[in-house]
Amino acid sequence: MSEGRRIGVMGGTFDPIHHGHLVAASEVQVRFELDEVLFVPTGQPWQKASRSVSAAEDRYLMTVIATASNPRFSVLRIEVDRDRPTYTVDTLHELRELYPGDELYFITGADALGQILSWRNAEELFTLAHFVGVTRPGYQLHDRHLPGGAVSLIEVPAMAISSSDCRARVCAGQPVWYLVPDGVVQYITKRGLYHCD
Ligand code: ATP
Ligand code: MG
Repeated sequence: MSEGRRIGVMGGTFDPIHHGHLVAASEVQVRFELDEVLFVPTGQPWQKASRSVSAAEDRYLMTVIATASNPRFSVLRIEVDRDRPTYTVDTLHELRELYPGDELYFITGADALGQILSWRNAEELFTLAHFVGVTRPGYQLHDRHLPGGAVSLIEVPAMAISSSDCRARVCAGQPVWYLVPDGVVQYITKRGLYHCD
């Protein structure tokens, strides 16, 4: 029997996906010798109920465009196709069923990692996947209170890019070239995303 594979999971709203996401995923893929990194765009994110999030299909397609050239990257639509709010714990349970015998590495930026401890099912999450926290400008990456062995913290090249910022730039008529992949710039224009109301 072949040994289990090492699979990275990069969850996100990806509204839009940007080079910060891609650099983080690529660094973790190489450092942890992952066979594959699965990008999992959220359906209706409960954390972001306060603002209107772009259609799941648009966010899914931008993620496909951005990752298409990397043979180790792929995109899953399991959350996109769900018509109820998404919880990371449900997704990890589903991935455990889809990839039995494989090791899962859930990749998060320092900001998202900080929230993990406040998640209701934090203990359960650590039994489903190994967590990899990556640096993100403006957020502290510290390991206080984190259960030993369940979480790794790594430094990735600093990319001071956020989706919020990209949306604000498009809305203000400023360019997002080189913050997001070229195909994503073109997709945003084609679909008229992030225009101000
Ligand atoms: P928003 O501004 O809308 O919250 P975002 O840029 O934070 O968007 P998300 O889709 O919320 O992007 O993030 C998905 C994951 O990617 C999270 O774990 C987040 O911490 C991580 N991430 C986002 N941007 C970066 C970055 N520049 N460097 C490292 N990690 C990042
Ligand atoms: Mg975010």
